[in-house]
Amino acid sequence: MTRLPVADRAVVRRAARDLLARDRRAVAIVLVLHGAAAIAGLAAPWLLGRIVDEVAAGGGAAAVDRLALAIGVCVLAQGLLSRYAQYAGHRFGERAVARLREDFVSRTLDLPVSLVERAGTGELATRSSVDVTTVGTTVRDVVPVIVIATTQLSLLYGAIFLLHPLLGLVALTGLPSIFAVTRWYLRRARPAYLAEGAATAELTEALTTTAEGARTVEALRLGADRIAHGTQRIGQVWATRRATLALRSVFFPVVEASYALPIAAVLLIGGFVMPRGMVTLGEVVAAALYLQQAIDPLDRLLQWTEQAQRGLASFARVLGVGQEPDNGSRPDTVASAAHGIPEPRGTVSTAEERLVVRGARFSYADGPDVLHGIELEVHPGERLAIVGPSGAGKSTLARLLAGIDAPREGVVSLGGRPVTDLPPAERRRRIALVTQEHHVFIGSLRDNLAFAASGASDDQMRSALAAVGADWYTDLPDGLDTQLGDGARELSAADAQQLALARLVLADPHTLILDEATAALDPTTARRTERALAAVVSGRTVIAIAHRLNTAHDADRVAVLEDGRLTELGSHDDLVNADGAYAALWRSWHG
Ligand code: ADP
Repeated sequence: MTRLPVADRAVVRRAARDLLARDRRAVAIVLVLHGAAAIAGLAAPWLLGRIVDEVAAGGGAAAVDRLALAIGVCVLAQGLLSRYAQYAGHRFGERAVARLREDFVSRTLDLPVSLVERAGTGELATRSSVDVTTVGTTVRDVVPVIVIATTQLSLLYGAIFLLHPLLGLVALTGLPSIFAVTRWYLRRARPAYLAEGAATAELTEALTTTAEGARTVEALRLGADRIAHGTQRIGQVWATRRATLALRSVFFPVVEASYALPIAAVLLIGGFVMPRGMVTLGEVVAAALYLQQAIDPLDRLLQWTEQAQRGLASFARVLGVGQEPDNGSRPDTVASAAHGIPEPRGTVSTAEERLVVRGARFSYADGPDVLHGIELEVHPGERLAIVGPSGAGKSTLARLLAGIDAPREGVVSLGGRPVTDLPPAERRRRIALVTQEHHVFIGSLRDNLAFAASGASDDQMRSALAAVGADWYTDLPDGLDTQLGDGARELSAADAQQLALARLVLADPHTLILDEATAALDPTTARRTERALAAVVSGRTVIAIAHRLNTAHDADRVAVLEDGRLTELGSHDDLVNADGAYAALWRSWHG
């Protein structure tokens, strides 16, 4: 199973910076508001210190009242500012998450089909649900907490330095041990908790299987065995729990001590230097109160660091989608292809559209070759039918021609360039593969058609529907605005297929590969659709995987594929005259 790539640190850092840069104003407002709130929060301890000094200097009740009122005003201001800061922060978070989701969707849609198939939908589903949600929670809830806590801490420590540099230095004494023990803890915590979880799961498993298989255990006298097994599992759980407890019993005491240490040190050293007139009692009190205030943001920082790390890991996985290096699936390449290359429309005559297969061999994963040295040249504007028994490799050849898979050996080229080298957007515009798998998206008929050509007018959409014989659309209650899909109007398989063909008419590619495209339609509808399509596709190259031989009969040339080999190639008449495999097929089909 192929794994989707995971973005490296540099890419994650750039993307995070980009996320902030795209909403610069909001980020600035959030920072200013939080900063102002934190500054308002600093005032209270400082004013308390002033009260202490006033009282120590024999000041009266009036001065104390004035200062107390100022404290009240500051607390109120801090509350209001934090409220607006949080509001602005959440709005920014929601916008950022919405952008992340949109980017993720467009990167996912640009992924090569073969990569998605190889990676499995589970991987992509996990990234689009669990990882995107984790990043969302981190951006919305964790980043603001970290920003606020960091701002508060910087201001608190800054304020202590302003009181007196000596007090500031003393205040910093707790930080190195907090930093060191957190690093130490985080490194060990994850594997230790994972081991604890795994051991607990194993114990549960051992106990339930013993209980469920009690009769067998008794019949075969396995009791002692099972008890020994259970005891061993209990021993494991005990050992892993002991390990995590050991981590906690180091981490929490060290952190708690690191909180208390600088407060004690500030009081001690402050008390020591105060008589020398270096600091006032009020300043020492204020510094101690600031340190007390710093405990809460420090706690929150520690608590959220792990979540932030998990968020970063998920962000790397989310950004990794679309980082497939082997082709132009990155959005920038796609964008340049969409803007830089003139749209080829109308009739096909150039060598640009010549589809050539040379010595193509292909195998799925590590399996045996299912195509053996295919040689084929499709002339621009011709209609080629590919026929052959089931399992001969027709669909596989169609995938190679459409550039979904690359041959293991040999080359499939369009206008001299390997098809798989074309940027996906350009390739899809030039070659369209239509299979039996077609999807009606929830939305209006117009939305469903606009996937193929976003700029198409209503008239163009109507004529595309008419061209494929989708007359049913005239009976729809709201015309192009009729809601389709789950819970709304359900289309029959035949109608859905016609919708897919109408999309194709709008997309207007030079080369169409129809892989059993009309197989789901009843013979009458199929013939009608094929005829309608034939009118639309004139001048275009059409490669049709044909299982109704009338398609082959109408084609310019017929290629017969047997067991992964191209055994016959020529016009219907030539092949019938040659009296080979095709002639036999034709006779048996024609009765
Ligand atoms: P056809 O379209 O002529 O019926 P296919 O191209 O579907 O033939 O299949 C050719 C061979 O490749 C078959 O042996 C089939 O079992 C095998 N095959 C097709 N798709 C896959 C796949 N996704 N993984 C592995 N083998 C596959």
